[in-house]
Amino acid sequence: MNPFVYRNDALHAEDVPLARIAEGVGTPFYCYSSAALTGQYRAFADAFRGTDALICYALKANSNQAVIRTFAQLGAGADVVSEGELRRALAAGVPAGRIVFAGVGKTRAEMAVALDSGIFQFNVESEPELDTLDEVARSKGRRAQVAVRVNPDVDAGTHAKITTGTKENKFGIDIARAPEVYERMRNRAGIQAVGVAVHIGSQLTDLAPYRAAFARVRDLVQRLRADGHPIDRMDVGGGLGIAYGEDPAPAISDYVALVRRAADGLGCRIIAEPGRVMVGNAGVLVTRVIYVKVGAARRFVICDAAMNDLIRPTLYEAYHDIVTVAASAPDAVPSLADVVGPICESGDFLAQGRSMPPVAAGDLLAIKSAGAYGAVMSSSYNSRLLIPEVMVAGGQFAVVRPRPSYEELLGLDRLPPWLNEPGDRAIPSRPAMIGGRKMGAV
Ligand SMILES: *Cc1c(COP(=O)(O)O)cnc(C)c1O
Repeated sequence: MNPFVYRNDALHAEDVPLARIAEGVGTPFYCYSSAALTGQYRAFADAFRGTDALICYALKANSNQAVIRTFAQLGAGADVVSEGELRRALAAGVPAGRIVFAGVGKTRAEMAVALDSGIFQFNVESEPELDTLDEVARSKGRRAQVAVRVNPDVDAGTHAKITTGTKENKFGIDIARAPEVYERMRNRAGIQAVGVAVHIGSQLTDLAPYRAAFARVRDLVQRLRADGHPIDRMDVGGGLGIAYGEDPAPAISDYVALVRRAADGLGCRIIAEPGRVMVGNAGVLVTRVIYVKVGAARRFVICDAAMNDLIRPTLYEAYHDIVTVAASAPDAVPSLADVVGPICESGDFLAQGRSMPPVAAGDLLAIKSAGAYGAVMSSSYNSRLLIPEVMVAGGQFAVVRPRPSYEELLGLDRLPPWLNEPGDRAIPSRPAMIGGRKMGAV
């Protein structure tokens, strides 16, 4: 579903005009549609109906508590890649028994917290990691349920920075070596190998690489069982692409049909880890035009959102549709523009050479498909405040992450004792002390 539509020439999020949210919370801000999130989860769940599938939402795409809880209430599990994400999943109400812990660099401390929480599965990516997990689990008298993430050497055909399944990538264990690795795990007190996991990349818009990878995983499951390993889980990872406005993306139902065929007759529990497809098109970034500058060669639309708020265009050369929040006149003549932010970097752009209708200072723009890898990758570079996140449900909206204050931003720093002179008024050592009071050491 597309929850962002024009009504009476005003772009709405579900039943709320985006301009009204802009008045209430200021710009820029992210806005997510609860109905769109729910719709994506249901599309997955419906396509898996009749199978024993666990849909573990990959938190790294968008880890706002409101987003996670929306999925948790529908029955989703979570795919986490750090202790912070594990804590977020648990805090949002995802049962530990539905949490999968992935990632190439889990520390002992992270393993310990995950074991204590009683998570469903560890996806292990190297032999040193296996040995460490075995040790940590034994020291606690626990046994971790493990899937080995194999690297099937399949090129996902996506951007180089989000391709993960070829031999050149740091992820997983070479599938050819996997039988040996499972052999090493036999009869360990701290780990039990119960599954095979794979994840070949992100933003896949072609299903063929999945077909190739899943076929290899299927062969491996059969081989491991023949070797006597009790493998009863197949974790197919995530990576399904979305339409960013230009190229179409595969339907969730087609992707799930492919997964079901790959697992057919194996009697394995399927674990899916979708991230981007669950949230990407459920979010927009709303920004206000500060200036329009007509340069010698180009028109620059300078907005109050920047690369620190949405880094995808400059990091991945990503395309995002950009539309005006107030519908532009039908006879408006578009021309090329660079849509840029105020940051002192030439990489600070949201679009380059984009055909845009005439816009003026004060206009609101919506950058679409910004629900995934948007807010989670933002920073306060240039001492810009992290921007608020808003969720809409029908006619209601709520701020689900407020904009911090400048006091909070400055308050993150501490002066070392040798710089913190009593009476120094220029640099507050604590936010509570702003306002002309005399400051001592922290
Ligand atoms: C990033 C990641 C996902 C989710 O990827 P999307 O492209 O957002 O669907 C799933 N599993 C693992 C192991 C990941 O690293």
